[in-house]
Amino acid sequence: MTYLPSPEALRPLGKSGIMVSPLAWGNWRLCGDDVPAVVKLLHAALDAGINLIDTADIYGPDNNEAFGASEALLGRALASEPGLREKLVIATKGGISMGVPYDSSAGYLTSAIDASLARLGTDTVELWQIHRPDILTHPSEIAKAIDEAHKAGKIRSFGVSNFTAAQIATLQQFMTLPIVSTQPELSALKLAPIENGELDQAIAMDMTVMAWSPLGGGRIAAPKDERALAVAAELDAVAEEFGVSRTAAAYSWIMAHPARAIPIVGSQKAERIAESADALKVRWTRARWYAVLVAAKGEPLP
Ligand code: NAP
Repeated sequence: MTYLPSPEALRPLGKSGIMVSPLAWGNWRLCGDDVPAVVKLLHAALDAGINLIDTADIYGPDNNEAFGASEALLGRALASEPGLREKLVIATKGGISMGVPYDSSAGYLTSAIDASLARLGTDTVELWQIHRPDILTHPSEIAKAIDEAHKAGKIRSFGVSNFTAAQIATLQQFMTLPIVSTQPELSALKLAPIENGELDQAIAMDMTVMAWSPLGGGRIAAPKDERALAVAAELDAVAEEFGVSRTAAAYSWIMAHPARAIPIVGSQKAERIAESADALKVRWTRARWYAVLVAAKGEPLP
């Protein structure tokens, strides 16, 4: 049996020189005020070999909490245990402004970065990302604001999320810093980045890909429609062979692509975060990997 190469246990975050794990833990659904519980989840992530934490200033309102609530909760958890902050690579995002909806003007980005650092209780974040493209800001203005934040030591590296390949290429032309990461929605139920050139661009530009909603927002764990059921059946065959859960197989399917995307685990349950590390036990043959793709597309490949 010839297997596709296994993902590296640790790898650089794009051209930043910062080392990150093959999986990340996401904070979109992190809410409430139980600080010790959040510390436990952070340890579940660390024990699973995960050092990369993905948050955003806009994480809060989707959980009926205030703008910034999730970052602030993470900040309180980091402050509660000496030494915890240093073990983590914190990635946050800004650029979504309530009721606007997108603002990447220099003044807004600068204030968003400052506000995130204050909520997180940290002088610098390892990665700061623009959450969604603001099509009304010229890339030269973004470049200037980001370069200044980097020179001031507020952000160690810069990435984007939900940008098209053309938007990334254009922005990079105006930047002195490399864009080290891109964060598209990517899963066996969201194939666009595989097919529209985003993953190829990431390989070409040496950007780390962070895959959001790697279980399709949970639909792969609890499939309902015909397409999700077909994908689940193909994932289950591989999961069974390697003695792991379907969700571990779903993460590893993403990780098997040569862009080496990092699935952002969205679960807020310690045992599910722990289990995500099983993704590294799975090996894919070409035939099995393509079978998931075919099930996801609902039609044979040419
Ligand atoms: P996901 O992994 O696709 O879905 C996670 C959801 O599935 C959770 O509600 C989880 O519930 C549920 N689930 C049910 N069964 C599960 C199982 N067996 N194992 C694991 N989860 C199971 O990811 P997501 O939460 O939608 O997104 C992940 C991260 O991506 C976010 O936290 C955020 O960091 C990032 N994100 C970024 C953007 C962007 O625009 N850049 C957008 C969305 C998300 P439990 O908590 O009960 O386990």
